[in-house]
Amino acid sequence: MKRILVTGGAGFIGSHLCKRLVENGDDVICLDNYYTGSKENVWDLLKYSNFELVRHDVIQPYWAEVDEIYNLACPASPIHYQNDPIQTTKTAVFGIYNLCGLARRTGAKILHASTSEVYGDPAIHPQPEAYWGNVNPIGIRSCYDEGKRCAESLAMDYHRLHGVRIKLIRIFNTYGPKMQAYDGRVITNFVVSALKGEDITIYGDGKQTRSFQYVDDLVEGMIRMMATEDDFTGPVNIGNPGEFTMLELAEKVLRLTGSKSKLVHLPLPADDPKQRRPDISLAKEKLNWEPKVPLDEGLKKVIEYFEARRPNF
Ligand code: NAD
Ligand code: UDP
Repeated sequence: MKRILVTGGAGFIGSHLCKRLVENGDDVICLDNYYTGSKENVWDLLKYSNFELVRHDVIQPYWAEVDEIYNLACPASPIHYQNDPIQTTKTAVFGIYNLCGLARRTGAKILHASTSEVYGDPAIHPQPEAYWGNVNPIGIRSCYDEGKRCAESLAMDYHRLHGVRIKLIRIFNTYGPKMQAYDGRVITNFVVSALKGEDITIYGDGKQTRSFQYVDDLVEGMIRMMATEDDFTGPVNIGNPGEFTMLELAEKVLRLTGSKSKLVHLPLPADDPKQRRPDISLAKEKLNWEPKVPLDEGLKKVIEYFEARRPNF
């Protein structure tokens, strides 16, 4: 039985990961300060003796004897990470600093959830890991983007200086059940608005693109990355190369929900990346991984999830 620490385990992705690890028979500590996550997300796991829930902020050091660490603690949606940008930078940077210290002392492997945001508004398309990115260092997204870039940098220095076993993944836009209805992310905004018959808000002309990955595919990629050989640090892109404009996404959501909601255009937020699609050649080669769930299929699951929660959103 492996002892596994999942920081941010009560969040959207973390709760799916915890479930998979608990079902696999691992001994899981789910650590969270509930900034954007909730106990509800892991309610179903509390009955298992190999699951433990700890309230803690990764900005402060944490001590536990563990074999593996998945570091997911960090708000991910723009409205959440911009709500308290100083806290976001501290979470990203002090979080990985404290956890690398823990990994060094315990000899644990540490997988860090980095992001496609390290590529900023990319000038290279699709984005391979070798691309260094195009990030505004002083903009409203930089608390997150630069926080995550600094976290990658710190993790690699712990690897080079102290031999800490680091695994970096760069996650592209991920969606699925347990996202918060009002997290401001495009999939939840569109699905919730469509189900309520409210206007669907397209920021800008809606021609910007994103590549959306279903959460189960991501969790599989994370577990495969953790299992790679010790000298393989990544970074590895984990995402679905299917690329859609926001207008195409809105049309899909309208079709799948049968909603009569209207599309309305709102101003594009500052520094909003124009395009994003992962080059996943490295994940295919090193992890023998590629995503399996097409967007339509994943969207249906999200729609079912929110439909089942009516009228509580
Ligand atoms: P989320 O907001 O649902 O989950 C983040 C979790 O971290 C929450 O439970 C939150 O309460 C917790 N947290 C935040 N600050 C903390 C702190 N200081 N101490 C302890 N816990 C803290 O977001 P998510 O979508 O599940 O994202 C999880 C991770 O994956 C994040 O690190 C995010 O940057 C990364 N990521 C997500 C996406 C995506 O599309 N969802 C894309 C790229 C990267
Ligand atoms: N977006 C949109 N309408 C919304 C929410 C978001 O058009 O109601 C756009 C947003 O401007 C961005 C894309 O959808 O271009 C993805 O936004 P999200 O916040 O989900 O993710 P990120 O920008 O971090 O990739």
